[in-house]
Amino acid sequence: MLQIQSISKQYKTGDFIQKALDNVSLNLRDNEFVAILGPSGSGKTTLLNIIGGLDRYDSGDLVINGTSTKQYKDRDWDSYRNHTIGFVFQSYNLIPHQTILSNVELALTISGIPRSRRRQRARKALKQVGLGAHINKKPNQLSGGQMQRVAIARALVNDPDIVLADEPTGALDSGTSVQIMNLLKEVAKDRLVVMVTHNPELAHEYATRIVELRDGVIRSDANPYEPSAAEVKPAVHRTMGRASMSFATSLALSFNNLKTKKGRTLLTSFAGSIGIIGIALILSVSTGVNAYIDNIQRDTMTAYPITIDSQTFDMTSIMGAQAGGRDNESSSGKTDGIYPDDRSIKQTASLTSSITKNNLTDFKKYLDNPKSEIRQYIGGAGIQYSYDVKFSVFDHDPDGTLVNADGVTIGAASSSSMASKMSSMGPSASMSDVTSMQMSMLTGKTDTNAAPDSFHEIMPGANDSRLISKVVTDNYRVVRGAWPTAKDEVVLVLDDDNKVPLTTLYELGLLKASDYTTMMNDIDAGNKITTPTAKINYDTALNQTLYMIPASDQYVKGEDGNYTYIGDNADEISSRLDSATKLKIVGVVKPIQDASATPLAAGVGYTRALTDDLIEHADASAIVTDQKVNKTRNVLNGLTFSPSDDATKAADAKTYVASLGVSDKANMAKALAQTMQAATAQGQAGATAGTAGATGAAGAQNMAAMDEQQLAASLDQYIATASQDALVAIYDQYVSTGTYDDNLAAFGVVSRDAPSTINIYTDSFENKDHISQAITDYNKTVDKADRIVYTDYVGLMMSSVTTIINVISYVLIAFVSVSLVVSSIMIGIITYISVLERTKEIGILRAMGASKRNVSQVFNAETGIVGLTAGLIGIGVTLLLIIPGNMLLHHLIGTNDVNAYLPVQGAVILVILSVILTLIGGLIPSKKAAKQDPATALRTE
Ligand code: ADP
Ligand code: MG
Repeated sequence: MLQIQSISKQYKTGDFIQKALDNVSLNLRDNEFVAILGPSGSGKTTLLNIIGGLDRYDSGDLVINGTSTKQYKDRDWDSYRNHTIGFVFQSYNLIPHQTILSNVELALTISGIPRSRRRQRARKALKQVGLGAHINKKPNQLSGGQMQRVAIARALVNDPDIVLADEPTGALDSGTSVQIMNLLKEVAKDRLVVMVTHNPELAHEYATRIVELRDGVIRSDANPYEPSAAEVKPAVHRTMGRASMSFATSLALSFNNLKTKKGRTLLTSFAGSIGIIGIALILSVSTGVNAYIDNIQRDTMTAYPITIDSQTFDMTSIMGAQAGGRDNESSSGKTDGIYPDDRSIKQTASLTSSITKNNLTDFKKYLDNPKSEIRQYIGGAGIQYSYDVKFSVFDHDPDGTLVNADGVTIGAASSSSMASKMSSMGPSASMSDVTSMQMSMLTGKTDTNAAPDSFHEIMPGANDSRLISKVVTDNYRVVRGAWPTAKDEVVLVLDDDNKVPLTTLYELGLLKASDYTTMMNDIDAGNKITTPTAKINYDTALNQTLYMIPASDQYVKGEDGNYTYIGDNADEISSRLDSATKLKIVGVVKPIQDASATPLAAGVGYTRALTDDLIEHADASAIVTDQKVNKTRNVLNGLTFSPSDDATKAADAKTYVASLGVSDKANMAKALAQTMQAATAQGQAGATAGTAGATGAAGAQNMAAMDEQQLAASLDQYIATASQDALVAIYDQYVSTGTYDDNLAAFGVVSRDAPSTINIYTDSFENKDHISQAITDYNKTVDKADRIVYTDYVGLMMSSVTTIINVISYVLIAFVSVSLVVSSIMIGIITYISVLERTKEIGILRAMGASKRNVSQVFNAETGIVGLTAGLIGIGVTLLLIIPGNMLLHHLIGTNDVNAYLPVQGAVILVILSVILTLIGGLIPSKKAAKQDPATALRTE
C-alpha cells in the first residue's frame, strides 16, 4: 500500500513560486491500475516523480508499505527506485547507443545482478512485451510503440511492486496506444500501475481507478481507498538496503557503453589525444636535443679532459693578464706625456711565475679515495694516469740504415730547429702536446730521455679491464690488421686523411733517413725542398720491425763499476737489437668519419701493457738496483751526490778527471789554462792563479803546440798536485753530479703514485664545473706548495656555450610545461562537454535506481577509458609523426645527430597523465551530473 499524505511541492524560479502539488493526499492499493488525468501543468509528472522517488516532496509524507520516507537518505531512495519502482516515460528514455537488451538489463546491472541472470531476465521481459526477436537492435531501429514496449520491459525486469508510466502513449498513434494500454493492463494484474495521461478515453477504458488533478489539487477520485485502522499502522522508518554496483561492473558497463559508440569514443579520445601528442612531440624533440647536447658535452669532455701535468703553467692566469691589460690601463685617460706600456713585460712575468710543479702524488691519493667529493662527477672514461716511461725505439730504413725513432739520428741536422719539433707533432697533436711544447719553449728544457715523440700510450679502459678504452675503439676504425692485445703490439695511427707526419714516417724507418737529412739541410740553407708524397702500403708498415730498448738497458756497467750511456752509440745499439723487445705494428687505424673524440695522435700507439712492463722492467734492472743500494753515490760516475764538504768535492774532482778520456782531458786542460790566464791578467793573485804556476804561464803559451796526449798528461800532472781549493773550484765548474732522483728518473723508474699527467674525464660541462670546484676545494685543504694548478681549456672555450645550453634546456622545459597546461585544459573541457551532453542518460540511470556514486563511477570509468585511449592514440600518433618529423629536423638542422625520440618512461607517464587529466576533467562534470536532480535531468532534452 502506498500512502501519499498531504504532500505539497512547489518550484521556485527566481521570484516566481509555482505550486506544483498542493496538499495532495492519496492512498493507492497494492494492485490496481490508476490513471491520473489532468491538463498540462497540473502537476501529474510531479506527483509521479514524487511517488517514484525521483523528486522530493516539500512537506507531507510518502508512506510505502508502512514505511515513512521522511527520513530517507539518498541511498534509500536509490534502492527504492531500483527495487520497488519501474518507470515508463512518454519519450521512452532509452539509452540510444545501447542495444535494447542492454537497455533492459540496465536496472539489473545497477542492482549488481550477475550477467548471465541479467541476460536471462532481460530476454524474458522482452519476450513478455513481444519483442523477443529484436533484442540486439538499437532503439533507433524500432518504432515508437516498440520502443515504449522496451521501456515497459525495462520497467518490469526488476519485478517492481509499482510501475509508474508518464503519458506512455503520448507520442504514439491510437493503434499502438491500444497495444501499450493492453500491455499495461496486463502488468497491472499483479502490481500497482500508476499512469499519467491526458487521454480520458483510454483512461476510462483500461484503468480501474481515475484520479483527476488540476493545479496541484486532486479534483476527483473514481475509486477512493480508505484503509482500515488495522491496515494503517503508524509509519516507521526502515532502510531499504542499497542498490549495489561494483566498480568492475561500472567499468564493464562503461566499456560496453563505449564499445557501442566507437566512433564517438574515438573522436573524443582523438580530441583528447591532441594535447598528449603536443606534449609527446615536444618531449621527444627536447629529449632528442638534450641527448644531442649530452653527447656533445660527453664528446667534448672526452676530447678535452681536465688535464693536470706534473709540471705546468697556468694558462688561465696568463690569458687573464692579457685580457685585463688594455682596458684597465688605457682607460686611465692620461694624455699629458709619455707613459710606458708594461703589458708585455707583465705578461712575460706572469708566464715565468705561472710555471709550477704539481704534487700529483698527494692529488692521486685524493682521487683514488672513493670518498672524495670529486668522484661522483667522473665520467665514463674515468681518470687516466699517464706515466713517463722512458725507452728508445730503433728501426731500419729502406736502405738498412739504423734509425732512432727519437729523431736523434735523423733529426741530428736540425734537432734544435723548432720546425722539426713542430712538424713531428702533426696536426692532431693533443692539448697536452701543445702544453709540453710550450713548456719547452718557455723553459728551454726538453726531456732528452723520454719515450719517442711519435709514440703515445693508447687510452686504456677506465672501470673495465679493457686494454684499450671504448672511447678509442668507438672513434677509430681498423683499416688493416687489428688492435694490439699485448705489450709488444702497437698500431700505426693515421689521421682522418690517412696521413702521418712526414717526420714520424722517417723516424719509423718507412722513408729513407738520408732524404730527411738532405731535406733538413735544405731548410737550414734556405733552399727549395721537395717532400715525398708517394703512397706507403699498409703492409710495408705492418712488416716494419721496431726495436724497443728501455732506458735502463741503455747503460753498460764498466770495469770500475760505473755505468756508461750507450743510447747514442750506433754500434752498441746495433749489437743489442737482437735482444731488444720487438714491437710489432699489428694494425693501422684511423678516426671514423664524424669521430667525436680523437684521443690518439698520429704516430704509433702502444698499450698500457707496455707501460706496465716498462715500469716493472726499470725497477728490476741492474742499474736501478745498483743505484738503490747506494743512494749517495752516482752509479754513472762514482761521485757523491751533492757533497757538502770540500774534501769530498776535491776527491770527486780527482775521480771525475780520472774518468775522462784523452780528448776530454785535453779540452779541459785548454779551458783551465784560459781561465787562469784571464785571472792572471786581471791581477787576481788568487790561490788558483798561484798554483797555476805549476803548468806555468810559459806552459800556457806552449799549449797551442801540444797534442792531445800531452795536454791530457799536463792536466793529470796538474790535478795530482793541485790544492784542495783548486780542486773544489774545478769540481764546482765541471762536475755535475745530478741527484739521486734525477738518476732514477733517467733510468726510467716511475712511481705508480706519481703520474706525470692526470686526465680527468667527465660527461658534461656541469660535471666539469663540479670537478673544477672540487679541485678548488681540494686546494683549500692542502699546503700552498701542494696545490694543483691546471688550465681549464674547456672552461675557457665553453663558458658561453654552457650558458646557451642552459637557455635551450629552460626553453624546452618551458615549452613542455606550456603544452602540458594547455592540453590539460583541453582534455578537461572535452571531457566536460561529453559528460554534459549525457545529462539525460544520467537521469535515466538515476531513475533506474543508480546512486550518485554509481553514476559518477560509470562516468569516471568511462572518462578513464577515454583518457587511456587518448593517451595511447597520442603516443601512437606521436611515434608515427616522429618519423617524418626527424626527416624534417635533419633537413632543417643539416645534421643527423639530433634525433627526436619518445622515451618509454615519458610515454608511460603521458598515458597515465592523460588518464588522470581526463578523470579530473570528467570528475567535476560527472559529480555535477550525479548530483543533478534526476527529475530535472530527465526533463532535459
Ligand atoms: P504536468 O506533468 O501535469 O504537465 P508538471 O508536473 O510537469 O505538470 O508541472 C507542474 C507545474 O510545475 C508546471 O507549472 C511546471 O511548469 C512546474 N514545474 C515542473 N517542474 C519544474 C521545475 N523543475 N522548475 C520549475 N517549475 C517546474
Ligand atoms: Mg507531465
